[in-house]
Amino acid sequence: MYIYRLSLRNFRNYASVDLELDRGLSLFVGENAQGKSNLLEAIYLLSTLRSSRAASDADLVRRDVLESPFPVARLECEVERSAGNLRLEVAIVGRTVDPSHRAGKRVRVNGIPRKASDAVGQLAAVLFTTLDIGIVAGAPLLRRRYLDMMISQVDRGYLRAMQRYARVLQQRNSLLKRIQGGQASATELNFWDQELAHSGGIIMFGRAQALAQIIPHAKLHMERLSDDQERLDLTYRPALGGLEDVDCPLDEPEWIARLLRALQRVRQREIQQGTTVVGPHRDDFAVEIDGMPADAFGSRAQQRSAALSLRIAEAMYLRQALGDDPVVLLDDVLSELDARRRRGVLEILDTFQQTIVTTADPDRVRDVLTRASGRFVVIAGTISRFEGE
Ligand code: ATP
Ligand code: MG
Repeated sequence: MYIYRLSLRNFRNYASVDLELDRGLSLFVGENAQGKSNLLEAIYLLSTLRSSRAASDADLVRRDVLESPFPVARLECEVERSAGNLRLEVAIVGRTVDPSHRAGKRVRVNGIPRKASDAVGQLAAVLFTTLDIGIVAGAPLLRRRYLDMMISQVDRGYLRAMQRYARVLQQRNSLLKRIQGGQASATELNFWDQELAHSGGIIMFGRAQALAQIIPHAKLHMERLSDDQERLDLTYRPALGGLEDVDCPLDEPEWIARLLRALQRVRQREIQQGTTVVGPHRDDFAVEIDGMPADAFGSRAQQRSAALSLRIAEAMYLRQALGDDPVVLLDDVLSELDARRRRGVLEILDTFQQTIVTTADPDRVRDVLTRASGRFVVIAGTISRFEGE
């Protein structure tokens, strides 16, 4: 798929932008703090209905209009897809003084109002940023988010399970605290164990399956990016309180049953601690480079290659699951690669219908400039086309 039209109104530092985009590679050049990342954030938000970095919806609304009676940012795109063309509109309402306007997101798909969760993944996208190194060397949360954002674009059941799991977890944790304080009895946990195991098992099954699918892609691209020098290994580490070393179960009911057993096993510990200690909210996956943990032993360049390989694998996974190409977004990641690695990445991304690249340093990526079919310059929230050098 590819985006052929994009409009932003009062989003971040953009008052009003209307863009026409082409297939192939579009390059956005701009100095620091001009709006390059904001542009890719807008596209990624249209895909996932979540910001890649904002703490709250109000952050996304242009500051100058935030004090107005109805502060709203509007994003709109038109997309050519093999599953039929798409018009996607998202309105983000910042904090409001008028109680008849609710803050939050409104979404329309082809003109019809939809719940945000029903619009996730209508536009499929992969976002590469310099922070991706955190997937390899950072906290487990970043690896869980990597999987969640990827899987929920293609699997509605997974997204629903995640939403349900978050609610059940909260209720179960508050029950654990009441049991700890003697205000509730432990038998009340039986119901919540079932609920938690059900949605949690769906999530664990989804993660195990997705990892199995991305592993061959991630390994292959790590080898390519390092000239067959480095081996990448990924291993799912579900949080099952000691039951994780059993042979990998194959189907969803088995994951649900195993999580339920884990909950029963750790019940006393959970009551003591007043919180849920097993389940997908504590999951992780191990990343190893040449058989050693990537966070503690990997060099910076190795970690960066591993992170790139994971994002490329994500793009391949989405392509496979959708039977259509996701839009590939690269936020200033090419300038930190040497020419050979950059060429490697570009050759892979050339096989995708649309790649949108930003850079603050066009001189360091002249090879990208020459490949680009569309070239734009970003200055203080305005975007214009340029030709030639
Ligand atoms: P860099 O090369 O440093 O990564 P960039 O071009 O990617 O720069 P952006 O991250 O897109 O820059 O941010 C551009 C500007 O947008 C920043 O100066 C920031 O203060 C501004 N900005 C962010 N949110 C808002 C908002 N809600 N309203 C107005 N301006 C905003
Ligand atoms: Mg930026």
